[in-house]
Amino acid sequence: MNILLFGPPGAGKGTQAALLTQNKGMLHISTGDLFRNNIKNKTPLGLEAQGYMSKGELVPDQLTINMVDDVLKSAGSKPFILDGFPRTKNQALALETLLEKRKTSIGKVVFLNVDNSLLMARLTGRRVCKKCGAVYHIKNSPPKKDGICDSCGGEVVLRPDDSDEAIEKRLSVYEETTRPVKDYYRDKNLLAEIDGSESSEKVFKKIEKVIC
Ligand code: AMP
Repeated sequence: MNILLFGPPGAGKGTQAALLTQNKGMLHISTGDLFRNNIKNKTPLGLEAQGYMSKGELVPDQLTINMVDDVLKSAGSKPFILDGFPRTKNQALALETLLEKRKTSIGKVVFLNVDNSLLMARLTGRRVCKKCGAVYHIKNSPPKKDGICDSCGGEVVLRPDDSDEAIEKRLSVYEETTRPVKDYYRDKNLLAEIDGSESSEKVFKKIEKVIC
């Protein structure tokens, strides 16, 4: 079954997608990661996306949809997890077309519900490895050596869009533009709402139940 992970920034979509990939062999498609890779490799798409991302704004729909189209083309028949896409009603409609073209569909939309104060605490404390992308939290899961990644020895830094201003913008963009997409999936009877404020292991167990 293909799954869509939906929720505000900091809800734990990336963490849960990684657990699903490890445990169920699913393909993780994160539009945020794809943009960050493009930025790292200085591609034309990366250069264009960077300006929007650093301000906490959404990258324009057509650029994002074309990128997802390309990734789905190379995904083959492996079940996938979409993480961070769609984020607008337009993207949700475009996704329908992309999936129809490939004669596939989304089996479940998992909404991770987390209140704003916890989202703020998670996002402001989040640190990432510049080299391998491993995610840490300054209080809950710091690297063993300050500023150094446990897995690859890379530099552990604040994500550029985890600055206070960018976080504020991302949360308001989520409320205004992305949250309404939830109703679209509720109307299609695909939505499973899960409390995302618990530990990642507990949240994962609940996700396993709704996707089995
Ligand atoms: P994420 O890693 O999912 O939090 O995404 C980081 C940033 O990438 C977002 O704040 C947007 O600037 C951009 N981005 C990721 N996914 C999308 C999307 N579906 N539509 C537009 N912009 C996106």
